[in-house]
Amino acid sequence: MREPQSKSIDPRSLLGGRALFPGDEQYDVRRRVWNGMHDRQPAMIARCGSAAEVSAVLRWARSEGLAVSVRGGGHNVAGSAVADNAVMVDLALLNAVGVDPVAMIAVAGGGALLRDLDAATTTHGLACPAGVVSHTGLGGLTLGGGYGWLARKWGLTCDHLAAAEVVLADGAIVEASPDGHEDLFWALRGGGGNFGVVTKFTLRLRKVGPVVHQTGVYALARAAEALAAYAGFAEQQPLDLHTVGALKTAGHHRWIPERLRGKPALFLTAGWFGPEADGPGAIAPLFRSVPPDGRLDQVLSYADLQALGDCSEPAGNRYFTKSCYLSDLTSAPAAALVEAGHEITSPLSSIDFEFLRGAIADVPDAESAFPNRSAPYIVTASAQWTDAGEDETHAQWSRQAVDRLSPWQHGGAYVNYVQDVRHQGTTHLYGDNRYHRLATTKSCYDPENVFRHNQNISPVVAAH
Ligand SMILES: Cc1cc2nc3c(=O)[nH]c(=O)nc-3n(C[C@H](O)[C@H](O)[C@H](O)COP(=O)(O)OP(=O)(O)OC[C@H]3O[C@@H](n4cnc5c(N)ncnc54)[C@H](O)[C@@H]3O)c2cc1C
Repeated sequence: MREPQSKSIDPRSLLGGRALFPGDEQYDVRRRVWNGMHDRQPAMIARCGSAAEVSAVLRWARSEGLAVSVRGGGHNVAGSAVADNAVMVDLALLNAVGVDPVAMIAVAGGGALLRDLDAATTTHGLACPAGVVSHTGLGGLTLGGGYGWLARKWGLTCDHLAAAEVVLADGAIVEASPDGHEDLFWALRGGGGNFGVVTKFTLRLRKVGPVVHQTGVYALARAAEALAAYAGFAEQQPLDLHTVGALKTAGHHRWIPERLRGKPALFLTAGWFGPEADGPGAIAPLFRSVPPDGRLDQVLSYADLQALGDCSEPAGNRYFTKSCYLSDLTSAPAAALVEAGHEITSPLSSIDFEFLRGAIADVPDAESAFPNRSAPYIVTASAQWTDAGEDETHAQWSRQAVDRLSPWQHGGAYVNYVQDVRHQGTTHLYGDNRYHRLATTKSCYDPENVFRHNQNISPVVAAH
């Protein structure tokens, strides 16, 4: 592949040797993203170390007529951080996190991973509510919303954004907050990477202590009954309790009965974030009416909880994800879910679900771009496999699993779990009114759609 040619500026000089081109030693390492399905060849990888460098790269790319993609942690299932023949703005070097424990504020670089954030905050007994796998990028997660263990108790990651340093499409560096560029600040909280490159996230923190954590496993034959009991429990659970479930192949852990190991099973997991002594009593009703076939009880630090899922979705495997919100998990949708569990085509795949609401739904709908706050459940059919020859089989299972739930879907979908926008575009994620406001904001900050390698919001085209 040919290096981009500039008449005026040598692109290698932009970043003091941190620009990578095809053939450079680190090029193949840095162009890879988490989902091994995406094997794309950018024209250049710009390993930026400051907002000023991001600005210089954006100005240069535009002057060259080159498209741009932005890489935070590289975890987006659609692989939007990398695009063929585009300039990849790689933020991995911008991963420093500073904490003010008195003000309970963290300032994190735009390329920080959740583990960078957790490492800096938990030493002070603090955390920002965020996702459940520590190698996920804070950038994409926050800009799309950010569900996690603390979401019912305190809200989404984007609800904890106090300010953002943003490099706009024209290279200008601005701060978006409730006191400046308020429209941009609104759009950054749920509108994804459409509006600029965020080089600093200022986040409000919460106090966290030990987490009481219990998981029950059920044979698939008992899953419908257990799900019905869970649905009754979920709506009543206190805000300090967060519960999640999964239909997936049971591992070979000692606490899982031998007869279930290696077979699809239902897992229900509870995390208690209130006073430790109250945890077991609060969780008990979840497992009382339909006792699990095996159970694991533990008390974890918040940092250990955050790393618990790190090994089950390794970088480089092939993934296809389809997700939806669900209104109901009583008998008929529960049966559809279990049926999809029976049909799983790969032992690495899973159907994950959780009950939401709580503080997520308490934030007024117009306050941020994040949509669908009142949705009760989110369900994700996450197909995972390693052999490229099986791509269509597993992707098809994921699509079918979610399609099975159509009668009970709440509408919309979570932008960060969308892999395939070919058929529906992004309007349905937000609804017409919210999409229109996002598109108007996009027209103001990125009228030429420089930031288009994402779940894209098109600028409103001015009428002539
Ligand atoms: C294993 C795994 C676990 C996950 N768990 C959760 C979870 O618990 N909760 C949840 O809500 N989501 C979760 N997600 C989804 C996650 O929120 C998205 O994949 C998100 O896009 C990841 O962000 P990233 O920075 O790693 O992505 P990238 O692939 O680097 O970026 C995705 C897009 O975000 C934009 N972007 C990223 N950083 C910036 C920035 N600093 N400035 C401007 N634009 C930027 C760009 O448009 C880019 O195209 C998970 C994903 C994976 C793979």
